[in-house]
Amino acid sequence: MSNIIIVGGGVAGMIAAITAANNGNKVTILEKNSELGKKILITGNGRCNFTNEYMKGDCYSSSLNNNDEVSRHITREFADVVLDRFNNKDFIKVLSNLGMSYYVREGYYYPKTDEARTFRDTLVSEVNRLGIEVVYNFNLRSIERNEDGFILSNKEQEYTGDKVIIAAGGNAAPKTGSSGDCYYYLEKLGHNIFKAKPALTSLKADYPDDLQGINALANISIRINGKTPETDDTALKTNATTIKTEKGFIKYYKGMLSGIPIYQLSMEAIPALELGGKVEIVADFVTDSNIEAALKLQGTTLKEALYKSINPKIVDVILKGHNIAPDTLTNNMNAAEREHIIELFSSVNYEIIGFGGFENAQATLGGVDIREINPQTMESNICKGLYFAGEIIDIVGRCGGYNIQWAASTGVIAGISV
Ligand SMILES: Cc1cc2nc3c(=O)[nH]c(=O)nc-3n(C[C@H](O)[C@H](O)[C@H](O)COP(=O)(O)OP(=O)(O)OC[C@H]3O[C@@H](n4cnc5c(N)ncnc54)[C@H](O)[C@@H]3O)c2cc1C
Repeated sequence: MSNIIIVGGGVAGMIAAITAANNGNKVTILEKNSELGKKILITGNGRCNFTNEYMKGDCYSSSLNNNDEVSRHITREFADVVLDRFNNKDFIKVLSNLGMSYYVREGYYYPKTDEARTFRDTLVSEVNRLGIEVVYNFNLRSIERNEDGFILSNKEQEYTGDKVIIAAGGNAAPKTGSSGDCYYYLEKLGHNIFKAKPALTSLKADYPDDLQGINALANISIRINGKTPETDDTALKTNATTIKTEKGFIKYYKGMLSGIPIYQLSMEAIPALELGGKVEIVADFVTDSNIEAALKLQGTTLKEALYKSINPKIVDVILKGHNIAPDTLTNNMNAAEREHIIELFSSVNYEIIGFGGFENAQATLGGVDIREINPQTMESNICKGLYFAGEIIDIVGRCGGYNIQWAASTGVIAGISV
């Protein structure tokens, strides 16, 4: 029996603890907050989308992805090794064995109660049932390695362990406890830490005030048109190349564009912006052919026709921006004019001038360099006996349950390996 200390009681820490305890170890969780799994409660808009039907390494990125295809391959391969060891089906089985019911919508998995609390409480009650010690309000301030193992301290109390799992999260949503403070201690133990950047977050754009507060369905793509001599990223060197498309609602909120498709595209946008690239979000509001039918109807106005498919505020702003009278009768429009209207609504550009901070981000890009972790065990290659789980690792998944799955997969592997 080993004495295992886990830093952080989020998804990764709790699942690592449950796994290590089930394997006969004495386990202690050191948690900064006065409760476990605080972040879980705000996931998935309070519903916690904990995994996804489609689960592959290509759904994950790391800081290495800014470089070249070889580095992108390293990230995918690392994530695939982890998912081969513990994937979405394994996770669902574990939760089912703990008695939690779930439902699936368009491939996204949620607790059947539609409450993130159910997922959190399922893990917390298992931690308690297994008699795992939890030290609350413990803010780790140092880790030392000696011949016998590790000494972890908050400058008032000390805990010693044969092996340690760091599951302290990244920098996203710091009010939930994950404020990135563990990076420093890991650097002191010899690890390379990639600078933390917000991931899955809103993008700042200049748009008319009339749009504040609305949601509009669109096919959304990103264009990156920057010149960055330090990088050989082909996307950045390509002239105005559309590199990704997502379908969903854009939310116009406080000068930002947000919503799931924007969060997904922020993964491409933020590194490009930081490298000085010009980033544009292009919205295609013509998501089906009904708009053409509406424009062909006789005896209706242009705005009435467009309102049937597109958010009226978007319609008003775009028509006004192009000096087109909203009350133009569709009878008076010829085929070329109708086509012109469709074109206008198919390609609306927003130049991106910034992005949301960690307070608004769902995840962190950056953290412990994956080249220094063995994906079969999650053990450090630099410091034996030290393991990692969850968002502390420089891996970030797409929106859609990929980050909680990551926390669970790496937590289980670390919990087995210790
Ligand atoms: C608003 C929002 C919505 C999200 N929605 C989803 C979703 O629907 N699906 C999905 O897959 N992902 C979602 N995510 C991402 C997902 O929640 C995280 O990636 C995941 O929970 C990370 O788990 P973790 O255990 O690695 O880290 P965390 O949950 O951040 O846990 C780390 C723990 O470590 C503790 N800690 C930190 N530093 C110290 C220290 N020095 N000493 C002691 N303890 C410390 C913290 O208090 C915290 O409890 C969302 C995130 C946010 C912010």
